[in-house]
Amino acid sequence: MIKLTTVIIDDSDCKAVENVLRKGFLVHGDECISFENELNNYLGSKNVLVVSSCTAALHLALIALGIGKGDAVIVPDFTFPATVNAVELTGATPLLIDVDETTYNINTKLIPDAIKNWKRKEKIKAIIPVHEFGCPADMDKINDIAEKNNLFVIEDAACALGTKYKNKMAGTIGNIGCFSFHPRKALTTGEGGAIAVNDIELANKIKALRNHGIEQVKGKPDFILPGFNYRLTNFQAALGKNQLTKFDSWLKKRNKLQMIYREKLQNLPLQLPANIHGHSWQTFMVVLSEKFNRNSIIKQLKDSGVETNLGAYAIHSLKFYNEKYSFCNKYFPIATKLYKQGLALPFSQNMTEEDINYVVKILGKAFLEK
Ligand SMILES: *Cc1c(COP(=O)(O)O)cnc(C)c1O
Repeated sequence: MIKLTTVIIDDSDCKAVENVLRKGFLVHGDECISFENELNNYLGSKNVLVVSSCTAALHLALIALGIGKGDAVIVPDFTFPATVNAVELTGATPLLIDVDETTYNINTKLIPDAIKNWKRKEKIKAIIPVHEFGCPADMDKINDIAEKNNLFVIEDAACALGTKYKNKMAGTIGNIGCFSFHPRKALTTGEGGAIAVNDIELANKIKALRNHGIEQVKGKPDFILPGFNYRLTNFQAALGKNQLTKFDSWLKKRNKLQMIYREKLQNLPLQLPANIHGHSWQTFMVVLSEKFNRNSIIKQLKDSGVETNLGAYAIHSLKFYNEKYSFCNKYFPIATKLYKQGLALPFSQNMTEEDINYVVKILGKAFLEK
């Protein structure tokens, strides 16, 4: 089976984790701080905090910015539901925006009118652009809209460690950036995530919120606010830190592979993702023509040993959001299409050109049989 994604753990990763396990200090500690420093260097940001997941990171970001009941947050309709769940769980209301057909990112052209036409009583406080599948969102435009409307910018960079936007790293361009180290992403710690934040006071607040609300007061730990336990463990951090040393070479390999896919797929009836400079290619998702049933294509491919999946979800159409807000499909034509026809192809840095040839051959056959 050619898997959708493969977790690549080598001997040095195992050794790094084993060393921590043998020392016996397993919760947040030196390895976490050291991983934070390495991420800081890598991202060129001011403060990086490691956390238990990107969902935790998004939740912490919103809470730290004081967003909750009575507020609204702009979110793209096409994403993994965690982005919007985090908003909903603070008590705030999501303002969903359709996405672009080939970058799959929030369509910035639609945002100004959506703000103007917002009729609910909640006040729009923030925007969460998602760098979908590692494709850099149009951050200049987003920061411009944010500035004009007095909004915070929280980047969902779950898929976008290593993504560049005009020589800046994704996740360091807005007020706060959130990363994921889930095994479905390019660099993994099992579960895990990180927050990049430029403002030191905000960073300190997030630090306290991450750890039960504890802060040093006059040299003694005290509980300054009600917090969560959203910490990463020391052995996860050791794994992440060791993976980071190899990460740049992985990104190069991933970019090569997407170019190979692109070339071999060009004659098939599907739409390719935009080849945007700085893309980190966490996922390679194509869009099938409407004449194919995507789910039966997935099944056919699986029968021939090729694992594929849908790419991401149209949030407005999911049970909870649809029932609560009665969203209308017609406002989200692109997200609806990407959710229905998007196909994520096998993609990981250890794939070979032969693997890709096989995937493309099987895909072509599936199209002919329909
Ligand atoms: C994976 C993902 C998340 C969730 O990350 P976790 O670390 O699993 O919590 C959030 N947003 C997007 C866009 C993702 O792809």
